[in-house]
Amino acid sequence: MLQNRQQILTGDRPTGCLHLGHYAGSLQQRVVLQNEYSQTILIADLQALTDNGFNPGKVSENVLNLVADYLAVGIDPRKSTICLQSALPALSELTMYYLNLVSVSRLYRNPTVKNEIESKSFGGSVPAGFLTYPVSQAADITAFKGELVPVGDDQLPMIEQTNEIVRKVNRICGKAILLESKPLLSNVPRLKAPDGKNKMSKSMNNCIFLGADEKSISAAVKSMYTDPLHIRVEDPGCIEGNIVFEYLDVFHPDKQLVFRLKEQYQTGGLADSKVKNILNECLQELIKPIRIKRDELINDKAELLSILGQGTAKANEITYKTLSEVKQGFGLMNV
Ligand code: ATP
Ligand code: MG
Repeated sequence: MLQNRQQILTGDRPTGCLHLGHYAGSLQQRVVLQNEYSQTILIADLQALTDNGFNPGKVSENVLNLVADYLAVGIDPRKSTICLQSALPALSELTMYYLNLVSVSRLYRNPTVKNEIESKSFGGSVPAGFLTYPVSQAADITAFKGELVPVGDDQLPMIEQTNEIVRKVNRICGKAILLESKPLLSNVPRLKAPDGKNKMSKSMNNCIFLGADEKSISAAVKSMYTDPLHIRVEDPGCIEGNIVFEYLDVFHPDKQLVFRLKEQYQTGGLADSKVKNILNECLQELIKPIRIKRDELINDKAELLSILGQGTAKANEITYKTLSEVKQGFGLMNV
């Protein structure tokens, strides 16, 4: 990790392989940011367990999938530190300290947690770990002294809550041990799923994965939500909320072409099938090289593990240092 560069902390839950939402919403940005910043990418397996506690196998089997996805899109382990949350005990320890500074009602008020509790249908039994995961996320961000946190917009309330904790800790310690952080939103903070209903999300079974084969890409594009009132080719169609156009806006390199297609669609005379073919071609081209690289990488588990091990060793040094600063700041006994 290069000294004197601003710290970036970012990460993903190993609940499945990464998808186009990650690509547009964060991965592309990370590939650029790693050249300018000291970037840490945390594979948040502890956080993934907060809603998969009874299925730890699902979480651990996806850890190396994430490492392969990162490398396949161009994350360079010599520039970015890739590390595993559960192998960084200082993060859990910090979480324990921070938990005392946050009220249960504040946790219930966190809008993302509120939405997720509803959508995950925990019923009356929300796991305590799930309710408190924003605090563990605060431990992650602060332990690395992350100043910039590239995220999708679902994560903004987490940063707000992190900064509240930072201010409390610094007040107790009487000096600025922890740093406040700022979110860095990409141009695509929330890519929708092909059905147009929810955001694309690993847990919702609505993804186009970065390792998707040709057939499943075509099937996903075919299934995409368009304008339900655009029945005959000559009818004028609506592009707002039309997922095919949303994806063309995000992924098609020829913006002029997309502009012309939109005009034609809105006037009438452009079939859904034609626009879908154009999008399909574009996504096939985008994903193919990633898939090929990913297939190679996933066969070399030893190499993926070694990259993760080296990154985690570096991260342990950094996070223990912050932990010891906080303990000292709190005046805890050192025996
Ligand atoms: P899960 O369903 O397990 O929560 P996920 O698909 O939401 O998985 P995460 O690992 O929770 O993925 O998210 C990692 C990062 O990627 C977060 O910063 C999140 O905001 C961003 N992200 C996830 N999905 C999208 C999306 N559809 N569009 C843009 N950014 C996204
Ligand atoms: Mg998520």
